[in-house]
Amino acid sequence: MLVAALTQPANRRTAVRALAEHAGAEELLILIPDRELGVLLPAPGFQQTLSDPKRWRQFLDRCVEKMFYQGELSFPTAETIMSATGFAADGGSVVVFLGGEHRMDEAIDISLLLPIVAAAFEGERLAAVHEAKTAVAKQTATQAKLLADSLDKARNELRQTLAEARRANAAKDRFLAVLSHELRTPLNPVLLAASAMETDPNLPAEIRADISMIRRNVELEAKLIDDLLDLTRIANGKVQLQRKVVDAHELLREATTVIQADPSSAQPEIRLDLVATSHCIDGDAARIQQVFWNLIRNAVKFTSAEGCVTVRTNNPSSDKLRIEVIDSGIGIAPEVLPKIFNAFEQGDPEINQTFGGLGLGLAISNALVEMHGGTLRAESAGLGKGASFIFELPVVERGAEALEPAPALLGASNLRRILLVEDHATTAALMVRLLRKRGHEVVLAHTKAEAIAFGLGQKFDLVISDLGLPDGNGYEVMEALRSNPGVVGIALTGYGMEADVASSVKAGFQFHLTKPVDAQKLYQAIEQIATARRA
Ligand code: ADP
Repeated sequence: MLVAALTQPANRRTAVRALAEHAGAEELLILIPDRELGVLLPAPGFQQTLSDPKRWRQFLDRCVEKMFYQGELSFPTAETIMSATGFAADGGSVVVFLGGEHRMDEAIDISLLLPIVAAAFEGERLAAVHEAKTAVAKQTATQAKLLADSLDKARNELRQTLAEARRANAAKDRFLAVLSHELRTPLNPVLLAASAMETDPNLPAEIRADISMIRRNVELEAKLIDDLLDLTRIANGKVQLQRKVVDAHELLREATTVIQADPSSAQPEIRLDLVATSHCIDGDAARIQQVFWNLIRNAVKFTSAEGCVTVRTNNPSSDKLRIEVIDSGIGIAPEVLPKIFNAFEQGDPEINQTFGGLGLGLAISNALVEMHGGTLRAESAGLGKGASFIFELPVVERGAEALEPAPALLGASNLRRILLVEDHATTAALMVRLLRKRGHEVVLAHTKAEAIAFGLGQKFDLVISDLGLPDGNGYEVMEALRSNPGVVGIALTGYGMEADVASSVKAGFQFHLTKPVDAQKLYQAIEQIATARRA
């Protein structure tokens, strides 16, 4: 290089200090001989020595003053190295400071040193960059590891929390199922007794009115339990649709007839305006019926006897069925309208105190409609201006296959002999009474063993069996008896879970009634079986 302190590595520090003193310089360009290569190489610390062009200039000036150096030299940055090379080619010489036994004016050809310095510069730069990069990379790697560790930890915690939540949820489901069963079981005999007494002509009218009130309230209680159970099942994706081609008009007529038949309160007139030409849908008859019931019941509930409820259908397009339930009732305030499909949301609290309910019906209906690929929305011009609920579903062609029959209305029965399997004494006694009152011959079995013995020993037209029995279950009873020609069955259970329905169908039951079964529903199921038989 241009100016160098050539010294032995062993005494470099001392020599450099001495030279610096001698040159009056605080900084020096230090080169040391590399024995292996036989050339001079920048000593460690070299870059700092040359870090400042101004100082470099001053240093060279001082060298000139002291006659160590003569000539014009650029600060050897990456750019100036080029010009310095030119300078060397012009025959410039290098003043070398010598330490120890060397002579100070020994000159070295600059052309030998420049490439080394340039390489050293580049080397140091690369080393620095590399070091920095390594440091950054190390830091990044450390941070990445920390991040990955904490992510892993968070993921594990989340997994654990999720597993716990799932366990808790499953426990809650089981608890709800058992609770609802326990809550429903005692309602069953009450409902049965009340339904029977309500229509008993031997009782005074005012007592019958009270009993009717008891029946309505017990029914309401049962409906609340059903809704709660439904909501948890829907939320957990446990509801499975048993889809078939069903005629929506038949379901609407049936729902309307049943709601109109409720003698308990003065009701608005329900008008049917079923003008859709395509009205078959691919759906779960029971679930679609549940939506119709909810909508029509609400319309009736929120409309005075002087008002009117219209159930209308049409086809807004060839592939769609629209069902509108329009009432002239209390209406819905605009700020309440967006919320009524939320679970536990009710409209005006004052109004709802009068009408009761938990605010679950519409949330359940909406979820069921969505499961069927349909839409449900509400419209109202405001309080006091009535409300409309509009339900749209895709239609299907009415195929040659049998339609899901709508639950039949009451009528005479051709099912004479019934085997009733029920271990709950009060429920059994009441059901026997109800069935006998309708002209059936009833044989009561309290256990699975008794039921199978009776069933195989005698001829029955119908088996009505509770699913939970002390020595087994109703499925086993039905499976044992279904080989008897012509035996049909109705399963009774308090659980009402989807799996029960599927299992009871598999065991051979035609109907699955959830307790508390009221007399009307039981009669309807019997009638439906009777009608199917006649056909
Ligand atoms: P609830 O069983 O409490 O009636 P729903 O989910 O069926 O619950 O209804 C939620 C709320 O929507 C009701 O409390 C009521 O405020 C409002 N609502 C539903 N149907 C009607 C209607 N036909 N007219 C006026 N308000 C209605």
